Amino acid sequence: MKTFKIAVLPGDGIGNEIVPPAADLCMDVAKKTGGFTLDMTNIEAGAALYARTGVSFPEESFQVCKQSDAILLGAMGLPSVRNPDGREIAPQLELRERLQLYAGVRPVKAYKGVPPVLANSKFAETNFVMVRESTEGLFAFRTNGIIENDETAREVMQLTRKGLKRVYDFSFKLAQSRKKRGFQGKLTLVDKANVFRSFKWARGVFDEEAKNYQDIKTEYCYVDAMAMNLVKNPWRYDVMVMENMFGDILSDLGAGIMGGLGMAPSADIGDENAVFQPCHGSAPDIAGQNKANPIATFLSAAMMLDWLGERDNVPQALQAGKMIEKAVEQALEKKVVRPQEFGGDSGTTQITEGIRNELAKL
Ligand code: ATP
Repeated sequence: MKTFKIAVLPGDGIGNEIVPPAADLCMDVAKKTGGFTLDMTNIEAGAALYARTGVSFPEESFQVCKQSDAILLGAMGLPSVRNPDGREIAPQLELRERLQLYAGVRPVKAYKGVPPVLANSKFAETNFVMVRESTEGLFAFRTNGIIENDETAREVMQLTRKGLKRVYDFSFKLAQSRKKRGFQGKLTLVDKANVFRSFKWARGVFDEEAKNYQDIKTEYCYVDAMAMNLVKNPWRYDVMVMENMFGDILSDLGAGIMGGLGMAPSADIGDENAVFQPCHGSAPDIAGQNKANPIATFLSAAMMLDWLGERDNVPQALQAGKMIEKAVEQALEKKVVRPQEFGGDSGTTQITEGIRNELAKL
């Protein structure tokens, strides 16, 4: 029987409230489907560890992550704990960079039972995936920003052919696999090619890649127009790919479409490793109060099982991922859980219990 090694990093703030139940849910579902087991290793990293020890992510912990089949992460960083240069503590960015997790995958879906953010009846059809290039763009030199003097500051954006090709390929393949499941088979490149030459050049790389995927329709959209379109008609999109900073911003808009940050899952995927984590941060304003919505983390855990199942051809793991999503869907639709995030009265423990009960019935 296949055993998947999972590195579990709850991190800071609400990470400690939402990751343990997500890990339990994975164990529950693995028992239910059979066919695979999970060997989970808990790892401490983040701002709280830095405040205590002066180190945010020990090298041996990084190595455990690197050797594992997948990494399940909560959230890292606390506004009150900073690096000497003033930036927040962010081992999750270190993981992205050192493990070359170039595809930031953020599915956006309208779930029944979550108050729709748009009145249009087509809103219920909203189901698309944003792919955020996660290793370069405006983050490429994030530690080297230059404050020239008190009047001028400068950051550099970098796009490379290698970086673009791999994330475009990933996105085309994702559109193909979704097409098999009945989606449109369309990839939208989001950029700002009307203003910046580098984005115009990147369109050429995109068009070259597109030749290998004749079954996928393509289109371009400027990032500012996309911000408006995602508010006006998000249901018209299938897969979209964009530069790092654009993805950082639009993925929060995607979370808003889903009803809140506590609903939005994500995966950062590379050729060898992958991190699964909710889109939100450590939310210190609600930490320790049983207010956090753990659904984004549960859906991220579902993506993890799905990815492992696909990668190693373990159908039970694929099924386990689908079962977690189904349990979430049913709990929301039946209003067994009503997250406080959108006006309900269920706290973290009630949401967890409601979803575990739905899973038990599947
Ligand atoms: P980061 O920059 O690290 O992503 P952030 O500054 O965007 O973090 P978050 O920690 O994500 O901030 O929190 C933003 C807001 O969303 C806060 O008001 C927080 O309480 C709320 N929030 C975040 N996650 C959740 C959640 N799981 N459930 C409920 N509310 C949440």
